[in-house]
Amino acid sequence: MSIRCDVVVMGTGAAGLMAARSAAQAGADVWVISKMPHRAPNCTTAAYGDITWSTDETAEELAAQVIETGGCLSNQKLVEAFAEDIPARLADLRAMGVEFDEPRVLADGMPGAVRWSYRGKDSGLAMTDLMQAQAEQAGAKFMWEKVATRALVENGRVAGLAFLCLKTGELSVLEAPAIIVATGGGACMYRRTDNPPGATGDGIAMAYEAGAELVDIECVSFGFPQGRVDDALHAPEAPCEDLLEIGHAHYFLGGIRIDEQGASSIPGLFAAGESTGGVFGAARLGGSAVGECLVFGHRAGVAAAQYAAQATLTTDPDTARAEEDLATLMAGDADPYELADRLRAITWRYMGTVKTSDTLGQALSELAALDEDLPHMGAAGGQQLRTAVEVRSMRTLAELVARASLIREETRGCYWRTDFPEPDSATQLRNTIVRKEEGGPALSTEPPVMTRITSPREVRIGAGCFNYIERDA
Ligand SMILES: Cc1cc2nc3c(=O)[nH]c(=O)nc-3n(C[C@H](O)[C@H](O)[C@H](O)COP(=O)(O)OP(=O)(O)OC[C@H]3O[C@@H](n4cnc5c(N)ncnc54)[C@H](O)[C@@H]3O)c2cc1C
Repeated sequence: MSIRCDVVVMGTGAAGLMAARSAAQAGADVWVISKMPHRAPNCTTAAYGDITWSTDETAEELAAQVIETGGCLSNQKLVEAFAEDIPARLADLRAMGVEFDEPRVLADGMPGAVRWSYRGKDSGLAMTDLMQAQAEQAGAKFMWEKVATRALVENGRVAGLAFLCLKTGELSVLEAPAIIVATGGGACMYRRTDNPPGATGDGIAMAYEAGAELVDIECVSFGFPQGRVDDALHAPEAPCEDLLEIGHAHYFLGGIRIDEQGASSIPGLFAAGESTGGVFGAARLGGSAVGECLVFGHRAGVAAAQYAAQATLTTDPDTARAEEDLATLMAGDADPYELADRLRAITWRYMGTVKTSDTLGQALSELAALDEDLPHMGAAGGQQLRTAVEVRSMRTLAELVARASLIREETRGCYWRTDFPEPDSATQLRNTIVRKEEGGPALSTEPPVMTRITSPREVRIGAGCFNYIERDA
């Protein structure tokens, strides 16, 4: 099967739904795909419901809080866009019918958070149902249980997306000049995580394979008892057995590198939400993740629609590599579930909360050992086939996180190194950029884009998400 359209959106969390709505409202013919069944949990539906709140008057302070919390690794142009757009995107949600409690603020003149008025497990479903209805009303069409496997790129530009139907195992193509990656983060690549199944970094790995740049991919935040952070940073030996049984991977701060319009380094490839990096740096404020999805989902949707309107579509893109994928996923006898377990044990043990250059090196050699079985998976279909695709994504992502971690020799925000337990702003105040090259991943560093703050007053170190910094009156 091959379908043609203007914009393909991958993912039905807050970022994908906002992107789909805005692209369709801007006049694009939009298809949205999700690897999960309709209304199955994702990180957005699992969220507690806090969303960054600010007014036009507090946008400036919100931007400063985001930059300082992230230890000054943010691209400050992205932060400005984030802070400026939050009021308008919250107004959009209200217009869709999403209900909120009263905003909570620390002090007058400060930004804060609103919480949606839905409680309990999957409370975000009420919001995503309303967002999906809006996207459909604007003309976006949805496909469920279709797993994207490869971004098709011809002559350096996007030509479409290859995906597998999880029910039939059939390979299909959406031919489109623009795709928006909104597949979320990769916390499920660790044995312990609070993310629902499916957060395996597929879109990040796919964008990397297609040639897009990633930024600060080593910055992963872990939920961890605050009182034990020091123990992790000063563990006598690593990995430290008792610390391995606490904490969980929570959020990918790094990801696909984007500009203010959600454009990646590949023409036609846009991204939004947790699959992207650059907004938060090394740590983020509570409530800012969903806010970021809304802001950059909208921006990416509008920009992708505009791009598609003037782009020439390459017809019949080359699907040879997508077809080759099928053999590696389905024709062998290696069990994808077993490989997923092995991979998650490696990442959690050697590249989780307690890590040093030795453990990261160990992670890389154990990940390489997985490669004997990886090209010979035997997935029959359904969840097993989805897992096979996920194992491949997690393998790619794990190596990139380990390699990028090896070159960030410091502790900053939620990024911890047991062998470098202090921040080092003199040498490490820079972004890590990863790009695919012929021989493997190429890593480089660049100074962050700074438009307003050049060094944090104090580098924050901790777990999970951070509260607003209290300012002196
Ligand atoms: C327990 C928990 C509580 C949280 N609470 C808050 C909170 O209160 N406030 C806040 O701001 N943030 C919170 N966060 C973080 C926030 O929820 C997420 O960062 C955000 O929802 C991510 O949204 P997203 O749209 O980028 O991705 P997701 O919501 O994760 O959606 C990803 C989508 O991509 C699809 N997908 C993935 N791979 C493929 C593929 N290969 N092919 C097709 N489809 C694919 C998935 O099916 C899914 O639909 C919380 C996170 C967790 C885990």
